[in-house]
Amino acid sequence: MSTQNRIYLSPPHMGGKELEFVQEAFASNFIAPLGPMVTGFENDFAALSGIPHCAALSSGTAALHIAMRQLGISAGDIVLASSLTFIGSVSPITFMGAEPVFIDSDHATWNMDPNLLEDAVKDYCRKGKTPAAVVVTDLYGQCADYDALRSVLDRNGIPLVIDAAESVGATYKGRHAGKGGACAAFSFNGNKIITTSGGGLLAAEDEAFITRSRWLSQQARETAPHYEHREIGYNYRMSNIVAAIGRGQLIALPERVRQKRALFDKYVAALGNLPGIRFMPEAAYGEANRWLTVMLVNEKEFCASPETIRLALDRENIESRPVWKPMHMQPVFKDCDNYGGSVCESLFAEGLCLPSGTAMTDADFDRIIALIKGCAGDRI
Ligand SMILES: *Cc1c(COP(=O)(O)O)cnc(C)c1O
Repeated sequence: MSTQNRIYLSPPHMGGKELEFVQEAFASNFIAPLGPMVTGFENDFAALSGIPHCAALSSGTAALHIAMRQLGISAGDIVLASSLTFIGSVSPITFMGAEPVFIDSDHATWNMDPNLLEDAVKDYCRKGKTPAAVVVTDLYGQCADYDALRSVLDRNGIPLVIDAAESVGATYKGRHAGKGGACAAFSFNGNKIITTSGGGLLAAEDEAFITRSRWLSQQARETAPHYEHREIGYNYRMSNIVAAIGRGQLIALPERVRQKRALFDKYVAALGNLPGIRFMPEAAYGEANRWLTVMLVNEKEFCASPETIRLALDRENIESRPVWKPMHMQPVFKDCDNYGGSVCESLFAEGLCLPSGTAMTDADFDRIIALIKGCAGDRI
């Protein structure tokens, strides 16, 4: 194991203003959930995203759980979801007792294939089981094709929930990621493009939807001097201190998107011409935030597998990671239905997420490139 400091996949990168906001929160003694920083963070995020109503929550998974609850998802419902995603995107479907059905990606964007979505909607409608919702993931910071998905769903009155956990700062047809669905969930977990250490947010055009989401996130208390409950809620609110970090991070976001995109371009310039190496494509309809740089390795052409590269980097204390293992391949979902699957299976087989920290030094970058090239032996 190398003695050099570990290079992480996507470590937090503070912008400088975070501590000022945290100090302000301390000075006002709002060391609690609920407080002016939470409202400030929600307002800042609404301004950034153009989605007017926002509820700051404890995680992206919590945001999706509340989204499922608000859409009335219940036991036995069918909810269609991206197969190529992180578990937090789909576990909230199961929290409601509903059944996820997984949709493959398309080659051009790696996001949910609108044609397969249409097949699934038609099949389930024909069976008299109209899907109750669709949860689509914006993979690795690239927006899914919301309009194409919506054109299938609107005809059938099926709401689109956008899992924009990875796409903060990305755009779709000039609009911020997440805008254009019934609601959108964002994550500020420690490895995301901006972080509050841990946190999430639910955003929607509909004010009542978000007012009720906030209420659900704070144990669904009725207005009364004592604790009165007619419904069961959750303890999912973001704390004031965490929101203070988020306000600082939002200031740094445009710079982070620039840095992530520049790092992606640097990887492409250094490796893109090697035999068997390709990178995640960018759809013409938007600008990805390039949260993670993802490379595809054709083992035959490159003469090394993505796993060989991952292990070579790991021996030098450098973190890289396979592409998400598709949900339809997960043991926990072995009984779930799925549409297609071969596209995300091959992305899982060939993909490697490269170190994508925005504070990475040129020396670290050069070391990573040399190690990757070294895996191909003396052919390169
Ligand atoms: C990170 C992530 C989540 C979950 O967010 P948390 O804040 O970690 O709960 C959900 N979906 C996707 C696609 C993610 O990458």
